[in-house]
Amino acid sequence: MSEPRVLLSLDYEPWFALTRRYDSWRDPDQRRELDGGFTRHALDPILASLGEAKASIYLVGEIADWYPEIPQKIVAAGHELGLHCQLHRPLVDERELSRDLEASAAWRARYQVRGYRAPMVGIREAAYPLLKEAGLMYSSSLYAPSGNLHIRHGLWELPVSTLSISRRPATLVAPRHFSAGLLAGGEVPYGSSFMIGLIPDLILKILERELRTGLSPVIILHPYELIRPEAFLTRLGRDLLTHPLLYPFTLPKSSFLKNLLKNFPVSPLLTYIEETTHA
Ligand SMILES: [Zn+2]
Repeated sequence: MSEPRVLLSLDYEPWFALTRRYDSWRDPDQRRELDGGFTRHALDPILASLGEAKASIYLVGEIADWYPEIPQKIVAAGHELGLHCQLHRPLVDERELSRDLEASAAWRARYQVRGYRAPMVGIREAAYPLLKEAGLMYSSSLYAPSGNLHIRHGLWELPVSTLSISRRPATLVAPRHFSAGLLAGGEVPYGSSFMIGLIPDLILKILERELRTGLSPVIILHPYELIRPEAFLTRLGRDLLTHPLLYPFTLPKSSFLKNLLKNFPVSPLLTYIEETTHA
């Protein structure tokens, strides 16, 4: 049995991954320009704020194309480098996912990437064999109560944490994304940075309780929640008006991270899976 700890993950993506407005933009130069150097400038301060703690950093592959030093620095700092996707948009369609996996094959092989986090934590059952075939070993692309580690078509699935108000779900079938259905079923997806933005202190209390009961919860943060992109709210303005639910993702979370690291042990997801499955 491995020691309980917070399984800390960072979905490392451009600031504009928050909105669906640029999903159809496919020109890499245009996308890089839109990012405006944010993903490059944010990395060093984020790595510094992690200090000695190690996390899982799921990278959007196009960032590795723009700035090859980014995956290098993540690995050199001792963090787990994972795959978030090659180009950030909903990836529930299997053909889209296949193409996306192909596009990331070279850098994944180079860095021996083992883990996958689906964009928007959105996945279908049919994705698991594709991920396995692409050489991945685990996924963290569902929301479910802490303490669930399941094998799916030869691939481990370690869900992002929810707090189950009623009883624990008996079976976990994809998709289990952040939805009204999930909430109606009595599950609060507190591992989402949406919830962390709304009730950071309560999340720290929940984490404490989870650890005390021997569970290792999985939580997500994003780079733009730790380092503010230039004119962030102005650039998102229209999206925030039409999709006010995006707002909690824009709230700063660096003091949450600081408190988290001060109070709890953390580790990457891969370390936990290796310890748990070898035991
Ligand atoms: Zn994402």
